[in-house]
Amino acid sequence: MYDLLITNGKLVTPDRIFDAQIAVKDGKFAGFFAPGERVEAKKTVDAGGNLVYPGIIDCHAHLNEPGFEYRENFETGSRAAVAAGCTTLIDMPLNNDPSLMNKAIFDLKMSKISRHSYVDYGLWGGLVGDFDDKPDSVKNNMADLLDLEACGVAAFKGFTCPNGPLFPTVNLGNIRKALDILKPTGALCGFHCEEYGQVLEREKEAKAKTNQTREQKIRDFLDAHDVWTEYVATKNVIDMARATGARVHICHVSHPMVAQVVKDAQHEGLKVTAETCPHYLGFTEDFVFEKGGPAKCTPPLRTQDAVDGLWDYVLDGTLACVGSDHSPAADEEKDNATKDIWQAWGGLNSIQYFLPMMFDMTVHQKKLSPTLIAKVMDESPAKIFGFWGRKGAFEIGFDADIVILDPEKEWQVEQDKLYTKGHVSCFDGLSGKGAPVKTFIRGRLVAEDGRYIEDAKGTGEFIKPLK
Ligand SMILES: [Zn+2]
Repeated sequence: MYDLLITNGKLVTPDRIFDAQIAVKDGKFAGFFAPGERVEAKKTVDAGGNLVYPGIIDCHAHLNEPGFEYRENFETGSRAAVAAGCTTLIDMPLNNDPSLMNKAIFDLKMSKISRHSYVDYGLWGGLVGDFDDKPDSVKNNMADLLDLEACGVAAFKGFTCPNGPLFPTVNLGNIRKALDILKPTGALCGFHCEEYGQVLEREKEAKAKTNQTREQKIRDFLDAHDVWTEYVATKNVIDMARATGARVHICHVSHPMVAQVVKDAQHEGLKVTAETCPHYLGFTEDFVFEKGGPAKCTPPLRTQDAVDGLWDYVLDGTLACVGSDHSPAADEEKDNATKDIWQAWGGLNSIQYFLPMMFDMTVHQKKLSPTLIAKVMDESPAKIFGFWGRKGAFEIGFDADIVILDPEKEWQVEQDKLYTKGHVSCFDGLSGKGAPVKTFIRGRLVAEDGRYIEDAKGTGEFIKPLK
């Protein structure tokens, strides 16, 4: 007798879509059966002929706990995540205070977040450099990397551009050393790639200008973070992968010129993976001019040509996965009335529409197969971040993380109704088609029709990479 049977669904994998029943026992996939085959289960859920995906993995999210709970915490961020069909997310080590840079902080962070997560979670460990080297900056954590790796972080994250005293920038020496230290463990190091010197100089020059209009300031912001900053930093990181033979991951690739660098490295045989985000696949600079501060993120949104070109690299597998890069803010930090583009918080509130946005763009706008979603939001992130064997596929013995998605269900973002702590989202008013109707984590219902199930608070477990 199974615990749960899901009937009448069209299962989506990276290769195909097929009718099957899913049987769950003890939180794991226990069997897949032909439609109509008689299967005994304690509970049956009719998927209504909808698409059924393995639970969505968001490989890049900032839930800000501990330290910046006024912007978000694991309860608010994770309930928004499950409402959008996400069942596993990997939380970033920065926009935390303290940043996740050693085992003691890992223990502290776990004691806080494990109480109230709706979603299963992995953790990015911090890769903290000493490029900034200001008196109040924390010092580099090279000596703590192996301990932190042993805690079970899914990957390490470093910043190549100016980033403040809580999470200082890594210089090339830090990167090379970290890769040398971590290479024997097989750990993955991911980087926010924008080259320090160019960003610093161009921002300084732009901010020194006076009497700038709103439009001029936005233009200057976009130019200070133009593609050359991302391109050079990406090349530098890849050179360090070449020098050390270690695994590196390029976070949130925003431009085809950068994706091509990644593709060349992959063809060379280097261990380089990369992700992009929904906002780089569907939104342009025009959106920043229209929305102002709420649409500020780094790297920033690019041109229409860049958006169009980026899809080619998703389709050919260069950009193997997508992450939301949900990086929330308090409403006043995104207030156009009081903050110009330079003062606004850099990061988007996007987690609650991560899958709906990707599905609408992929299937309804680009007319691509729903199977692409299973590739970039299930299989690839599971494999890259070490969760394969447990997450990311309809395989017997894997966690029964399931999203039933109605491909025609209409949705519209209403920022006042977001489950996140802050409510200002540049996506307010955006509409599309294709949304989750039921989401299960390890066989347990955690969200239904875009609403999280309150009783599911605390369902989320820490997921370590499998070795
Ligand atoms: Zn991020």
